[in-house]
Amino acid sequence: MAESGADLNRAGRRGPERDQRAQEIPGIPDADVRAVFESAPDAYLLLAADSPRFTVVAANDTHLRATMTRREDVVGRSLFEVFPDNPADPGATGVRNLQASLDQVLRTGKPHRMALQKYDIRTPAGAFEERYWDSLNSPVFDDRGNLIYIIHRVEDVTDQVRSQRLLAGERESEERYHLLADMIPQHIWTTDATGYHGYFSRRWYDFTGATLAETKGEGWLRFLHPDDKERTVARWQHSLQTGEPYSIEYRFRRADGEYSWFLGQAAPLRDEAGHIVEWFGTLTDISERKRLDQEREQLLAREREAREQITTILESIADAFFAVDRDWRFTHVNREAERLLGRSRDDLVGKSLWEEFSAVVGSTFHHEYQRAVAERTTVEFEAYAPTIGIWVDVRAYPSDDGLSVFFRDISRRKLAEEKLRESERNFRALANSIPQLAWMADPTGWIFWYNDRWLEYTGTTLEAMQGWGWQKVHHPDHVQRVVDRIRHSFETGERWEDTFPLRSKTGAYRWFLSRALPIKDETGTVVRWFGTNTDITEQTEAAAERERLLEGERDARAEAEQQREQLERVTESRARLMRGFTHDVKNPLGAADGYAQLLELGILGSLSEKQLQSIQRLRRSIGTSLHLIHELLELARAEAGPIDIERVPTDVAALIRETSEDFRAQATAAGLRLDVRATDALQTMTDPARVRQILANLLSNAVKYTATGGITVGVGRRTVGRGPRSGDWIAIDVSDTGPGIPVSKQELIFQEFTRLDPKAQHGAGIGLAISRRIARLLGGDITVESHADGGAGRGSTFTLWLPTAILD
Ligand code: ADP
Repeated sequence: MAESGADLNRAGRRGPERDQRAQEIPGIPDADVRAVFESAPDAYLLLAADSPRFTVVAANDTHLRATMTRREDVVGRSLFEVFPDNPADPGATGVRNLQASLDQVLRTGKPHRMALQKYDIRTPAGAFEERYWDSLNSPVFDDRGNLIYIIHRVEDVTDQVRSQRLLAGERESEERYHLLADMIPQHIWTTDATGYHGYFSRRWYDFTGATLAETKGEGWLRFLHPDDKERTVARWQHSLQTGEPYSIEYRFRRADGEYSWFLGQAAPLRDEAGHIVEWFGTLTDISERKRLDQEREQLLAREREAREQITTILESIADAFFAVDRDWRFTHVNREAERLLGRSRDDLVGKSLWEEFSAVVGSTFHHEYQRAVAERTTVEFEAYAPTIGIWVDVRAYPSDDGLSVFFRDISRRKLAEEKLRESERNFRALANSIPQLAWMADPTGWIFWYNDRWLEYTGTTLEAMQGWGWQKVHHPDHVQRVVDRIRHSFETGERWEDTFPLRSKTGAYRWFLSRALPIKDETGTVVRWFGTNTDITEQTEAAAERERLLEGERDARAEAEQQREQLERVTESRARLMRGFTHDVKNPLGAADGYAQLLELGILGSLSEKQLQSIQRLRRSIGTSLHLIHELLELARAEAGPIDIERVPTDVAALIRETSEDFRAQATAAGLRLDVRATDALQTMTDPARVRQILANLLSNAVKYTATGGITVGVGRRTVGRGPRSGDWIAIDVSDTGPGIPVSKQELIFQEFTRLDPKAQHGAGIGLAISRRIARLLGGDITVESHADGGAGRGSTFTLWLPTAILD
């Protein structure tokens, strides 16, 4: 076999030796042709047309290389003997298909191109190798047109087939991948290493309503929510630059214009060298999650708000408040409760009431709270809380969640109540000790208490008298009025006062002055009435007595007034009498003096010394009488009415000098000095005649009552507090060295008919009274200073005060 395949020629020639049909097979005639055949770049076999054997007549080098055979093992042998089917491939069709193709060439005389054929080749080691072939079988005819050979040209297309198959597989896997990508709920996208978006899964197009052309590259950014763009680009660039996985939440616009939230994620795909070749990204719709988040956020916010509201409400209530859950653990504690419990909210919340305030276990608090929860009922109570040392007023409300407790510090109220009770006791004790009848009524006027005296006086009991029972002891004539009026007071809150008779236990009525006062609390609400009944029977009698006395006094007054009027009439008639009398006496006396003077002057004949002395004594007596009468006349005038005053500018000093000089002879005769100190002019408005009259009176008194020594008359301005009024005065002093006037008598001498020494017979005691009266009419006064007490007379100084200006 080896040698038979070594040479085409030989094979052709020697073929028949080996095969009975070899003789029909012509050899290749031309060595040149053989050389061409041998070295042709394509793989050829020259096959004899001896179907079904198809003896290999020649094989070129390319074919031998391609099939890993040697010429000597091929040439001269049946094609199918050399190239059998791969026994390991039960589906192998190589032999059958090749045979069919060759037979077709023989039958038709036309070349036949076989479909791509898998035809495994045995390696020199014996194992088969997968191979694919592109085969063309072409007939070769001789000159006579007889088909003598078939050229079997093959091309090893294993590599192409393989790569095609790979490609097909890849395509398939990509298709499958895209199908998958389209099926999963996420959007899938891929980019190249630069971030250029080249692929989006179906969902993306369905969502955006866009085409690849619109969305590839940077196109996708157009569907991004404007507010998310900046941060998305930044984030994406960051991943592209660093290769870090990309993750972001953003919104994309749906075809209908609505935006949906997505979670965008991408990771890089790298080659073996670690270079990024692609980015694989997904978009997961998180709208629902976002919506839920938002809803949750809203709910949380609302809950927070509600909680805050509750807290605000709890804080704004004045009461202390805490709540416990079903396990008695604190859930709420407001500020007031923090204050009263002396514990902070943070400290208490979550902790057990009974553990934190173990001292109340077993107390009223414990029982009441337990009861509230067990019976699901509201409880209210007041109790002393020993742990916090105060009295509290508590209201506890059970709920499904536990117990809500409101409480407030009532220590002050408790104290006040205690005080009230005490003062109430004191008050009743006091009300029992007062001499009045007393009672107390509630705000409606229902009397609930009488003092002992009341019950004792009426001889009744509280049971009989309480409420409105007191009407039984009232006088039937008064009771209706009393009821009406006191009812009015109870209704209006006005204090009540009335006077009426009350029947005593003896059956006799006595009069009572009754009063009731509303007692109010700090809010002004009447809390009770307190009433008293004061027995005024005696006062009423005393009042009648007083009335009688007053009557008597009025009578006495009227009588006195009558007497006064009578006295006035008497005085008036006395003055009139005096005026008449003095006038009647004065004129005859004047006439008598006239005759006496004629006698004294010897006009009626000369007189003996004795006669002359008698005449002179007579005249002195007449003079004294005339003077007295003159004064009486003055007094009568003064009593009768005002004395006429006529003010003119007057030099008081000159007036003093003149008046004093009138008395010089008289003083000298009495052996007295007369010293007048009035040199400077002293002008004022006054009545000179009246001033002269006063001065004459003072000088005359000084001469009369001074035995030894002298008289000094002085005048000057005086600005002092002394005198009738403080201010500027003209003061005229007439001083003597006489007996002086006791202080006790100094005011007396200015009264009419006052004489200190009645025996002295110097005057009638009228002069000073008239002088003072005139001085006051002039706007001044007369005062005296004297020190007669203790015996040693040191004289008197009378001062006439005259105003410096005109005074009304
Ligand atoms: P008459 O001098 O006419 O008695 P008066 O009214 O002038 O009346 O005086 C009243 C009395 O005051 C006098 O009686 C006298 O006792 C007393 N009296 C007045 N002036 C002086 C005087 N200068 N010294 C002492 N006693 C006087």
